[in-house]
Amino acid sequence: MKNKGYLILSILFFSIINIFSQNIKIKYLANEGVLIKSKSTQILIDALFKKEFDFLDVLPNSELDIIEKAKASYGSIDIVLATHLHGDHFNPHLVGNHLLNNKEAIFLAPEETVNYFKDDFKDFNQIVSRVKPSTPNLFKSQAITIKNVEIKVLRFEHFGDSPWKEAENVGYLISIEGKKILHLGDSKINIENLKNFNLQNENVDVAILPYWQLGADQQKDIIEKHIKPKQIFVAHIPIEDHIKARDVIKSIGYKNTFLLIDKFKTITIK
Ligand SMILES: [Zn+2]
Repeated sequence: MKNKGYLILSILFFSIINIFSQNIKIKYLANEGVLIKSKSTQILIDALFKKEFDFLDVLPNSELDIIEKAKASYGSIDIVLATHLHGDHFNPHLVGNHLLNNKEAIFLAPEETVNYFKDDFKDFNQIVSRVKPSTPNLFKSQAITIKNVEIKVLRFEHFGDSPWKEAENVGYLISIEGKKILHLGDSKINIENLKNFNLQNENVDVAILPYWQLGADQQKDIIEKHIKPKQIFVAHIPIEDHIKARDVIKSIGYKNTFLLIDKFKTITIK
């Protein structure tokens, strides 16, 4: 009888905890595109782009059309972020039309991306008040609060050779309802890039990182030491690697990883 009482009390206790704890949901869209969703806020990162490279995944046109028209739940997107201007992360027409149709949304991106947006989207003047450029100097950061969400903009080098590496590329550290989500765009992940940010002290819950930067053992050590995320979401996985990626990541020795392969899959962060 006594045990039964404890059981009822425990169930009651955990039910109350569940009611008050805020779960964050991350929905995979395509490539490095995700939707972060809390009870009160929805944030899109690197999700509005069209087919740019055959080897990378993209959302179906039907879904892009719904986002562009801000229909269904996309009508309540609060913040749209782009890490840089490359066509597998950002499309000025999709973002522009979304902002025209969703009058509440704010767009944040590096200055270079915003300038391209301005040159390429004919109705830019209608949305300009909701477009925020932020380009901290290399290896520096800038803290911005949009709609009660704290966003730290972290300026990283873009990985790869010229002309790719010249792009103004940033990462975003988003603090939302007690959770911290890091999205690194196409950042070059090395000690030089990471050391100034002390991300290991930020208590990052989820780091969304590009597959091809997760590389060998040495790269794993750098990520574990200088980012120290509780969980890694592996993004930007080329289509032809979808089958082998899980084994590759496992063989390097990463733990607590989730591979962003299945479009529209939602993961709850507790
Ligand atoms: Zn890029």
